[in-house]
Amino acid sequence: MAEETIFSKIIRKEIPSDIVYQDDKVTAFRDISPQAPVHILIVPNKLIPTVDDVTEEDELVLGHLFTVAAKIARDEGIAEDGYRLIVNCRKHGGQEVFHLHMHLLGGRRLGAMVVKK
Ligand code: 5GP
Repeated sequence: MAEETIFSKIIRKEIPSDIVYQDDKVTAFRDISPQAPVHILIVPNKLIPTVDDVTEEDELVLGHLFTVAAKIARDEGIAEDGYRLIVNCRKHGGQEVFHLHMHLLGGRRLGAMVVKK
């Protein structure tokens, strides 16, 4: 059984966060350290630690992350100009919180996708 992170507490509303969307499958809340004018994390309510832990059973909820991302982007007024969705996996991906999550970033030009070496 994977260890819970702070995101499980946010999902259960045991600690405060700025939740912008929640349903039975996913929760979306503003990142505590935003890297763009809009920076929202979209998280499966079920704890999946990393992309490497994903199974076929998770396909419905993972697909739902995209539907919710698109809805939030429209609600935030950034859909027309565009935005970026990022999912980091483990050390080389830069993952810090081991509860799979999708970053929704927008509201400005985001520049290069990967920092050049
Ligand atoms: P990762 O690097 O794992 O892909 O992204 C983790 C993200 O979670 C970071 O952008 C970080 O700022 C955000 N984060 C970490 N702890 C908290 C928290 O307690 N509340 C919120 N809202 N965001 C958090």
